[in-house]
Amino acid sequence: MQKKYAPLIAFLAVLLLLAANIAAHAALCAPTFAYAGEKRIFLTFDDGPSTVVTGRILDTLKEENIRATFFIVSDRVRGREETLRRIVREGHTVGVHSATHDYAAIYASDETLLADATACAACIRRVTGVTARVYRFPGGGTSAFARQSALLREHGYTVVRWNAVCGDEEIAGASPETLVRESIRTAGNKANVVLLLHDSAPHRATAEALPAIIAHFRAQGYVFCAY
Ligand SMILES: [Zn+2]
Repeated sequence: MQKKYAPLIAFLAVLLLLAANIAAHAALCAPTFAYAGEKRIFLTFDDGPSTVVTGRILDTLKEENIRATFFIVSDRVRGREETLRRIVREGHTVGVHSATHDYAAIYASDETLLADATACAACIRRVTGVTARVYRFPGGGTSAFARQSALLREHGYTVVRWNAVCGDEEIAGASPETLVRESIRTAGNKANVVLLLHDSAPHRATAEALPAIIAHFRAQGYVFCAY
């Protein structure tokens, strides 16, 4: 090899290494990509958007440079279109939760379940231009979970469950400190945490707890991911 090419080859090698590093980093947050030894946490917010709580949560996520996933209730979007657009603009993922969050109406039949998801997705598309690809069952689903999941998959959705909760729906009147503690307790030592939180209007304590929740999992070496 001619000596004069050595700097060029070295430069190309550095470029290649950089590209590989960027690709590896991008894959860290691909939800289906299992990374040995890598701890990941998905912050998932259900039942928004709300004006104050979603806004505060977005402020914190921006400060911390973290992407999260918001499963929205489209009946709550009217008057909060700008909040929904902000979620998308700041790089977060918007998923379908429900149009109405009315369990009896949603779970009356497969048709009503699909109609509810379709109405929510249509609202997301109309307001943000985004086609939602992830879905979370209102109330976590029913005994027909497997069949209904298959149905939703056929319609292009990935169904996202959770394996840890902050307790903001389970523990009435929980303080921010309790929500932080509950997040840590239910996450246990899982390498792949999907944490359920809520950003609907009553959940100011969740917004207050978020910085400490983030600090804890960051200190434990978790990478923050969105779907
Ligand atoms: Zn919900």
